[in-house]
Amino acid sequence: MQFTDFQFKPFIYEALKDKKFEKPTEVQERLIPVIQQKRSVVGQSQTGTGKTHTFLLPLFDAIDATNETAQVVITAPSRELANQIYTAAKQIAGFSNPVIRVSNFVGGTDKQRQIDKLKHQQPHVVIGTPGRLLDMINEQALFIHKAFAFVVDEADMTLDMGFLQEVDQIASRLPEKVQILVFSATIPEKLRPFLKKYLENPVIEEI
Ligand code: AMP
Repeated sequence: MQFTDFQFKPFIYEALKDKKFEKPTEVQERLIPVIQQKRSVVGQSQTGTGKTHTFLLPLFDAIDATNETAQVVITAPSRELANQIYTAAKQIAGFSNPVIRVSNFVGGTDKQRQIDKLKHQQPHVVIGTPGRLLDMINEQALFIHKAFAFVVDEADMTLDMGFLQEVDQIASRLPEKVQILVFSATIPEKLRPFLKKYLENPVIEEI
């Protein structure tokens, strides 16, 4: 399988060329077509498998940058993980035209400055740790009611760190028909009620 099989918009191929990615990894081969079909997914895969681009590539491809609303929301359980996703997302966004705006909301950064910035303009892609993201929503600074996709990365770690309630509250602000992509190394029993509540007929892949 080749990246060209996914029929992405040209800017995605420019980003892939810049990254020198030659062909999709196994998780990308299996899940990108499913994500393109707008299905919800539970992906049981470890880091290092190309998981981040598995969701970023098809979601960036589906964004309408002429529409000034938040369209993709991504949570990660730590600042470091959110920063890693942000770096990968910015690299792809760097080739988009009109430009896809990406923002990262993590604890330990200037909250008021982020609120002021959001009052001026909403990003197309929102990444962050659950607590800070929820703060931005509760402050009526960030509006996610028009998002088409929600990614919960490292869901098992999110649960372990006690952030599942925040993730649940974020999910409750999304449109009913939102596509949800959950990535987790394991699927602990305590995660199942969340999956059942929000994911309708998901594709479950163990990679
Ligand atoms: P991840 O599992 O998302 O943390 O990705 C692990 C590493 O693989 C990162 O350095 C990615 O930039 C890289 N990567 C992702 N997809 C590909 C690909 N198709 N070909 C080569 N490297 C990749």
